[in-house]
Amino acid sequence: MNPVIALVGRPNVGKSTLFNRLTRSRDAIVADFPGLTRDRHYGNGRLGNKPFTVIDTGGISGDELGIDAAMAEQSLLAIDEADIVLFMVDARAGVMPADEAIANHLRVNRKKTWLVVNKSDGQQEEIAIADFWALGLGDPHAIAAEHGRNVTALIEHVLEPFPEESEETHPDLIASGVRIGIVGRPNVGKSTLVNRLLGEERVVVFDEAGTTRDAIEIPFERRGRPYVLIDTAGIRRRKNVSLTAEKFSIIKTLDAIRECNVAVVVLDARSGLVEQDLHLLDYVLTSGRALVLAVNKWDGLEQEAKEKMRADIKRRLGFADYADLHFISALHGTAVGDLYPSIERAFASATAHWSTNRLTTLLQDAVSEHQPPMVHGRRIKLRMAHQGGSNPPLIVVHGNQTDALPDAYKRFLTNTFRKVLKVRGTPIRFEFRSGK
Ligand code: GDP
Ligand code: GDP
Repeated sequence: MNPVIALVGRPNVGKSTLFNRLTRSRDAIVADFPGLTRDRHYGNGRLGNKPFTVIDTGGISGDELGIDAAMAEQSLLAIDEADIVLFMVDARAGVMPADEAIANHLRVNRKKTWLVVNKSDGQQEEIAIADFWALGLGDPHAIAAEHGRNVTALIEHVLEPFPEESEETHPDLIASGVRIGIVGRPNVGKSTLVNRLLGEERVVVFDEAGTTRDAIEIPFERRGRPYVLIDTAGIRRRKNVSLTAEKFSIIKTLDAIRECNVAVVVLDARSGLVEQDLHLLDYVLTSGRALVLAVNKWDGLEQEAKEKMRADIKRRLGFADYADLHFISALHGTAVGDLYPSIERAFASATAHWSTNRLTTLLQDAVSEHQPPMVHGRRIKLRMAHQGGSNPPLIVVHGNQTDALPDAYKRFLTNTFRKVLKVRGTPIRFEFRSGK
C-alpha cells in the first residue's frame, strides 16, 4: 500500500510543478469522472525504496465567498484519501486570505499536514518562511519546486514513518490464489458483478481476511480453486455511504490494479466508451497487469447500440486487443461465469515460465525467418533470450547494437513470441541488452 500525498493550496502556488517533479508523469491518471471532483491528477513517485502516490488536487478557488464550497468540492475527497497533506503556499505572495481559509479547514481535519512554502528561491529560508508561522500549522518548510531546492529532503522527511517496499509483492501466490481486481468508473456495475461472482452456487466466501486501506480483499473458492477478489466498489461498506461520488475512489482503484494479478475492467454498454475508461485501461497496461474486458449491461440492448459498442471497442481499444472480451449482464448473471476461464488463462500466461533454451530457440527461429536490419554496415545480432520476470512476462534478449533495433522489429518479435508461446490476456515486455 503506497502512502498517499495530497498537494493542496491556492491556484498558482506551484502544485503542478511539484507534482511533475515528484511523479513519472507517464503514469499520471486524470480523474475526470462526471459528478466527481474535477481536475485531480494522480501519479506515482519513488524515493529510494519508498514508492508513493501523489494527488494534485487542482486549484482551490481564490474567491473568498466560494472558498468553503470550492474546498469541499475540489479537495476534501482528495484529503480524505491521503495519508499526508502538503499544504502549499507562495513565499512571494505572502499569506493570502485564501491561505487562511484553507489552513482553518486543515486544522480541523486532523490529517498529518506539512506546511510547504514554495518559490523560496532567491530568498533566505528564514525570511521566506517568516510570515507563515501565523497560519498555525507548525513549522513552515521552504522549498523551490521549480529548481528542486529542498524537495528531496522534504519528501524524505515526510515519508520517514512509512516502511520501505518489501521485496515480495505477491508472497504465497499459489496458496492464496489468483488475485482479481474488479475496476471501472462509477455505475458501470462493479458491485453488481462482485455480488454475482460471489453469489454463484459453487462459490464459498471466506471471512474477510484483511481489509486494506479501503479496497477490500475477499478470499473465496470456486470449484476447489482459491481466488482473492479485490473489491473497489465497496459493497461491504454500502451502509456507510450515500453518494456514488463518495463510494468511488481512484486511490482504491489504483491500489487494486497494482495489487491484483488480473484486472477485470468493467465497461458500460449503455453509456458507451468514455475517456475515463481509456485512462483506466492505459493504467492497467502500464502497470503490466493481465487484463479481461467485461462489457456490462448487455441485456435488453438494441441491436444498433450493440453494434456501435462493438465498433467503438474495435476502433479505440486496439491497444488492448490481447485481452479476452466478454459481453455480460451482471444484473441477470448472463455470461458472468465465462469470465473465469479468461481470468485463469490470463493468469497462466502472465505467470508462465519458459526455459532459456526454449526462448533462445524461438529467438533464433524468428531471426532466421526475418533478419534484423544492418546498422553502420553491421547487422544487428540477437543471440540469446531468457526470462527476466513474470506478471507481466519479461523477455530479456542479448545481442549486439540492440539500441538500434527498430520499433517495427520489436513488434515483430513481440507478435512472434506471443503467438508461439500462446500468451493471451497479458502484456509481454522485452528488454534488449548489448554485449558491446
Ligand atoms: P499550481 O496552480 O499550484 O499548480 O501552480 P503551477 O505549478 O502551475 O505554478 C504556477 C507558477 O509558479 C508557474 O509559472 C511556475 O513556473 C511557478 N513556480 C512553481 N514553482 C516555483 C518555484 O519554486 N520558484 C519560482 N520562482 N516559481 C515557481
Ligand atoms: P458500480 O458503481 O460500478 O458498483 O455500479 P453498480 O453495481 O452499483 O450498478 C450501477 C447501476 O447499474 C445499478 O442501478 C445497477 O442495478 C445497474 N446495473 C448493473 N449491472 C447491470 C446490468 O448488467 N444490466 C443493467 N441493465 N443494469 C445493470
